[in-house]
Amino acid sequence: MHDLVIVGCGPVGAVAANLAGEAGLSAVAVERAVEVFDLPRAIHFDAHIMRILQQAGVAAEVVADTRVWRRSTFYGADGQPIRVHDWSDEPTYGWDAHYLFYQPALEKILRTRLARHAGIELRLGTEVVDITQNEDHATVTTRDVATGRTEELSARYVVAADGASSFVRANSRIPLVDGDFDEPWLVIDLLCERQLGRPNESEMFCDPRRPATRVPGPGTHNRWEFMLLPGETAEQVQRPESIESLLRPWVRMDEVQILRASVYRFHALVAQRWRDGRLFLVGDAAHQTPPFLGQGMCHGIRDVQNLLWKIAAVLRGAPTDRLLDSYQAERRPHVARIIDMAVAAGRDICILDPATAAQRDARMRRAAATGDLPRTTFQGMPPLQGGLFDGAGELFPQPMVRTATGHECLLDDAIGSDLAVVAIPGALEHRPDLTVPVVRAGGEAGLVTVSGEIDKWLDERDATIAILRPDRYVHALTRDDQQAARSVRELCAVVGRG
Ligand SMILES: Cc1cc2nc3c(=O)[nH]c(=O)nc-3n(C[C@H](O)[C@H](O)[C@H](O)COP(=O)(O)OP(=O)(O)OC[C@H]3O[C@@H](n4cnc5c(N)ncnc54)[C@H](O)[C@@H]3O)c2cc1C
Repeated sequence: MHDLVIVGCGPVGAVAANLAGEAGLSAVAVERAVEVFDLPRAIHFDAHIMRILQQAGVAAEVVADTRVWRRSTFYGADGQPIRVHDWSDEPTYGWDAHYLFYQPALEKILRTRLARHAGIELRLGTEVVDITQNEDHATVTTRDVATGRTEELSARYVVAADGASSFVRANSRIPLVDGDFDEPWLVIDLLCERQLGRPNESEMFCDPRRPATRVPGPGTHNRWEFMLLPGETAEQVQRPESIESLLRPWVRMDEVQILRASVYRFHALVAQRWRDGRLFLVGDAAHQTPPFLGQGMCHGIRDVQNLLWKIAAVLRGAPTDRLLDSYQAERRPHVARIIDMAVAAGRDICILDPATAAQRDARMRRAAATGDLPRTTFQGMPPLQGGLFDGAGELFPQPMVRTATGHECLLDDAIGSDLAVVAIPGALEHRPDLTVPVVRAGGEAGLVTVSGEIDKWLDERDATIAILRPDRYVHALTRDDQQAARSVRELCAVVGRG
């Protein structure tokens, strides 16, 4: 009996498998394709995702093959800026705020790194064709794509990371709720030795004659996306002469190698339920977003981090339902809210009527002047709400820390992935009975010594004590050591810790 079967080993399934390995679980990741999907889709992830990749033990390899993204300028119908996203003030959790990357390279690293975990098996060229659930396990039927041979796997839980047309979602008869957004865009990826535009900046052209965007990838990779106009077909815009004409303002065809030019429909869809007994939907199987905020894969990676520590706790004996139900309770509203932001951004970008575009440009410029621009994820992620939280829900910062032995490292590397309490000196002196590690911020006496960043963060929230979950979200914030002890006890009961 395995702890988990992970269906699909795209980026989300592969991060789930790495997190499962780090948590010491046994898992089989079943993937229909033999090779990593060779074309880039996602091109951006943010600092929180890098922090999760750090927890998954792959950040050092991943960061080596990225480009830091520093700014994004939006241009109006007149070709002049209407909004500049500059994220120098955004929380970075120990990393750069935003990264540009090449999805096939990320997926290869994630798969290769699985080999270090004896408990994780990757079965390529194998698809899941049936799942039945029993009282204490699920039976997953797989089929070898080459030979047709079938096999049954037993697992305590199933993580469905099988993408937008998820077999698992359909098998569990879980409908998708449609967010009423459906726009076709041509996505062109190419390699070019010449530096195009500023190296760490992207551009969004909100031109009603044809909305478009340009994003530099790592190395020589560059991406353009062009909206299809009414009456245009995918077949027409994918022709070489059409591609050449669209790219003419930036590059000559003799200096580029086109990797792909295909039309995608940008949707907004969220599965109605994310749990069916022992089975959990994650990633594109659970939601699809228009990519205007570059968050589709990021949502999926947040999903599996949220889910995996809870499954690990249940497998160690925690009571099941409250913990496992909190996955959907915490993640679904968060994803739905950010998809709404992406749809709102998309509706602004996809305006084709010149008069409406002029109104949008005037509105954006007014808002920029008064500091009243609509918030997007480029100003930081909203906190999680509901679920297990005791009144908090923000992600805790991740400064560099010095351990008791004088070693300097990022906070999560110093304190691992268990529950933790962070307190300023003196705040918890009367509670030596806490059963989780205590990090003393700013003092010399505790487990680690951390910079003033944490004191300031706590002070801004009128707190001296923060209770952290394994995913480094803040469960509770308080100044009261009795309340902290009570909140720790309650959290320990939910996650099955004595
Ligand atoms: C043009 C474009 C731009 C994007 N830009 C961004 C961006 O900048 N940032 C971002 O975060 N996201 C972005 N996205 C979204 C991102 O690419 C997806 O959200 C991400 O790939 C989803 O990952 P996944 O692992 O959930 O699904 P997938 O990548 O689809 O992987 C699912 C895997 O499951 C396998 N599978 C399916 N069925 C079975 C079965 N029955 N048995 C076994 N295996 C199965 C498939 O072979 C596949 O490998 C973009 C998407 C597009 C199209």
